[in-house]
Amino acid sequence: MRVLVTGAAGFLGSHLCDKLIREGHKVVGLDNFITGSPDNIAHLAGNSNFEFFKHDVSNYIFVPGKLDAVMHFASPASPNPLSPFSYPNLPIQTMKAGALGTHNTLGVAKANDARFLLASTSEIYGDPEVHPQAESYWGHADPVGFRSVYDEAKRFAESLTMAYHRFHKLDTRIVRIFNTYGPKMRLDDGRVVPNFILQALKGEPLTVYGDGAQTRSFCYVDDLIDGIYLLLLSEEHLPVNIGNPAEITILQFAEEINRIIGNKAGIEFHATKRLGDDPQRRQPDITRAKSILHWEPKVNLLAGLEKTIDYFKSKI
Ligand code: NAD
Ligand code: UDP
Repeated sequence: MRVLVTGAAGFLGSHLCDKLIREGHKVVGLDNFITGSPDNIAHLAGNSNFEFFKHDVSNYIFVPGKLDAVMHFASPASPNPLSPFSYPNLPIQTMKAGALGTHNTLGVAKANDARFLLASTSEIYGDPEVHPQAESYWGHADPVGFRSVYDEAKRFAESLTMAYHRFHKLDTRIVRIFNTYGPKMRLDDGRVVPNFILQALKGEPLTVYGDGAQTRSFCYVDDLIDGIYLLLLSEEHLPVNIGNPAEITILQFAEEINRIIGNKAGIEFHATKRLGDDPQRRQPDITRAKSILHWEPKVNLLAGLEKTIDYFKSKI
């Protein structure tokens, strides 16, 4: 296949490009570097199976030559307003990448009669009242809340993807990605994994927002990308959760990182940095992925964190 990957210079997009090329496909990468980095794809320069265009997906997209698949990953993804690379600080760009970017990439797929895969998110479930979250849950998201620029853009993107599938008979896929971590995460986008690892490596206290009782379920990037690739090859049009169901509180997560790195500076609680619509609990129900894709994560938290910490050490 010749596959267009938007957000190719980002954390997940760059791993996806590597996976597609390893599996024998040709990749056309697109990115405007708003939160990503050319460093993430530098190793692909000169690879005859990789082309790259610097472009904003919110504007009309033209890719020369036939495409067999389009995978739309371009969007800011960090909720932390303390970072300039977060969606609260890129609110219009985030809505445009999710709305106009999805429309443009669906248009490219339609013009090429190509398969389309949307990178959606567990954020569409909002602050969930159902636990764990299965795909059948419609969510509990505030349309004007602090995270809404991201949540609503992704909800719109899912709806538009299904409209193209139902009305234009486009061959579409939707993956709902739960918290994923690993090498090539941006060090300064404010997400909990880079924040905690950097703080621990510098011997500083870890900044737990609120009381740390909120939970997340962290998936190692290789597992996630394997699941997304299987979804691309599948015939499933309805959304599929991909994530690791191993749920942990943010406080336990901080303690685990301090333990692995040997950081003696402990933990500091920051009550006011936890924002109103920060989900209290998040855990994927991956029953559908297991039965449809025969996929489940293989990398446990300790093994995944060790690889991630090695990457961060190489970057500071
Ligand atoms: P990232 O910030 O590392 O990557 C996003 C990439 O998209 C960056 O390279 C950025 O420059 C690019 N981009 C953003 N807006 C663009 C635009 N208008 N035009 C062209 N390129 C643009 O984030 P990530 O964690 O790799 O997330 C990738 C995708 O996966 C996003 O769509 C995100 O919503 C989704 N996702 C990620 C996670 C996660 O845990 N990492 C969880 C749920 C969903
Ligand atoms: N968080 C934290 N300290 C930090 C950064 C984040 O306690 O330095 C918390 C944040 O409030 C949230 C969780 O960690 O409850 C996960 O945050 P992240 O930004 O990684 O993404 P989210 O899962 O909220 O989209």
